[in-house]
Amino acid sequence: MKTKIGIPKALLYFRYHTLWRTFFERLDCEIVESDDTTKEILSRGVNYAIDEACLSYKVYLGHLESLIGKCDYILIPRIATFKDREIVCTRFQALYDVVCNTFRDRDFKIIDYNVDVYEGHTEQEGFLHMGKVLGKSKKETMEAYIYAKGAMEEEHKALIREQNKKLNTDKIKILLVAHPYNTYDAYVGSPVINYLEELGVSIIYADIVDREKAREVAHKISPTLQWTYNKELVGAIDIYKDKVDGIVLMSSFPCGPDSLVNEMIIRKIKKPLVTLILDVQDGTAGRETRLESFVDIIKLKKEEEYEKIKN
Ligand code: SF4
Repeated sequence: MKTKIGIPKALLYFRYHTLWRTFFERLDCEIVESDDTTKEILSRGVNYAIDEACLSYKVYLGHLESLIGKCDYILIPRIATFKDREIVCTRFQALYDVVCNTFRDRDFKIIDYNVDVYEGHTEQEGFLHMGKVLGKSKKETMEAYIYAKGAMEEEHKALIREQNKKLNTDKIKILLVAHPYNTYDAYVGSPVINYLEELGVSIIYADIVDREKAREVAHKISPTLQWTYNKELVGAIDIYKDKVDGIVLMSSFPCGPDSLVNEMIIRKIKKPLVTLILDVQDGTAGRETRLESFVDIIKLKKEEEYEKIKN
């Protein structure tokens, strides 16, 4: 029987799911993903999380709990640093320990990998560790890792090519700046995306970008920004800002990195911009009114610019 690997559909799932799925499937494992987020999954996460945790973390704990008893291992990465002088949000560093502590009375096994390049732990080493846990040879694990990495990169390049086509449309274009786990979550981000599409807007996603280039150019907006994932989003703003009509900054409450970075973006980027902070108790009415007004203002601005050119 195949070993079943449970993957919570939350947090870094939305960045690495192709890498994870392909890697484990190449090693002859079966993947068990949690379902899309629902009110019920979120409520369960809220019960397990401390009040101060961000919405995205609460969602994650609900997903994790839903997988207990359905698989042999649950995948929990510990991501700390990808390079010197860069970190990721401390919640990703603490994820493994928080889960172990929160669910200490429950019976389940974790498969984990640690990325802390500053301390000498690379992603490759982390994947070799998981292969070992699964009883696979170094050779087959490396082959699976290289193949999965390639699959993830090809998929991302294809998404960038598709998005570049959308930049040529005459529709109003809005750059949605948000962590992928908020953007693509069925309960958190999808209602915002659906509403913007109902308003006739073409959405450009800040996470769909050449990540290396984005990290390089982010220094133009902030030379001291240390959070890797925020750095990519900030770099994406620099790359896309002249090709879009406005920017939506969407964050979960209370997000430490986003609260600082969003303030900086508001001060430095001269572009129509609106912020949306998503929380557990949110209804959609207030948010929709703000988005509708924002899109109306952009429409008016575009019409005025058109009239000026005409005259
Ligand atoms: S970056 Fe913000 S939203 Fe993401 S895990 Fe950290 S606190 Fe939560």
